[in-house]
Amino acid sequence: MDFRYDGEGFKVYSGKFDVNTTVFDSGIVVDPNVGADVYQKAKVVLITHGHADHFGDAAFLRNKGAKIFAPRHEMPFVENPELNWRGMYSWARLPEKVVTPYFLGRGVKVDEFSENLEINGVKALKMPGHTPNHTAYLIDSVLVASDAVHSPDYWEKFGILYYVDPNKMAISLREMEKIDWDYLIPGHGEVFDRKEGIKVIRYNIRMLERIEKEILEVIGEKVAEQEIFSTLALKYGFKGAKARIVLMPPVRGHLTDLCEKGVVEMYEEKGIIYFKVR
Ligand SMILES: [Zn+2]
Repeated sequence: MDFRYDGEGFKVYSGKFDVNTTVFDSGIVVDPNVGADVYQKAKVVLITHGHADHFGDAAFLRNKGAKIFAPRHEMPFVENPELNWRGMYSWARLPEKVVTPYFLGRGVKVDEFSENLEINGVKALKMPGHTPNHTAYLIDSVLVASDAVHSPDYWEKFGILYYVDPNKMAISLREMEKIDWDYLIPGHGEVFDRKEGIKVIRYNIRMLERIEKEILEVIGEKVAEQEIFSTLALKYGFKGAKARIVLMPPVRGHLTDLCEKGVVEMYEEKGIIYFKVR
């Protein structure tokens, strides 16, 4: 556990997996996963989405009397994180040793949906893309964006990051730019002020566009789906089954966007899924 940022009325901790846990003096905590009791008088826990790296301490806080809020459609994943890795593997069970550690963790019962949140100075904002119902929280002038925005350091380190719907992610990022906030807290990594934060948001949009273009180049005229994964896995150094499986959702998200734009077409030939340019 590391202390990341000391703001006016809030503190940010870098928890497990470098996740940002934001603790407000008012008793609100967003995405708790520090693994140590830094929470004192936490009354309200806000969870942004159903990935287990964002709520590891939530069950502990609930036992101490805090109320757990999560987006309605992320609730099944928060209560039963195994659903995430099943979904990632076509709902089949996946050998646990090849599950990304970000998805392994203890679930927590959700007391209320964050859509029904009524706390002065707190707004739940739908920011889908990273997951289908990812929600950010605007608390006074602090936007806890969580994984709706990725830190540039992470983009540079991994090349492709996790999201299921890049088109929606880009729309969410554009919304984020328009909202009035002074601090931007991504899911992992550094906290940004307004000036830096706007640059980071635009960088994320550019990265999504760049990866879509790259996938289109890999498709060329026609290519088997497996080859798109293997080309990108080699290029970005995704080694081993664990890393390779996590690459599937973002790449497939881009492929769906390209299909919906009418740029490419998905078809089957001799049992193999192909994409071709229309
Ligand atoms: Zn996540």
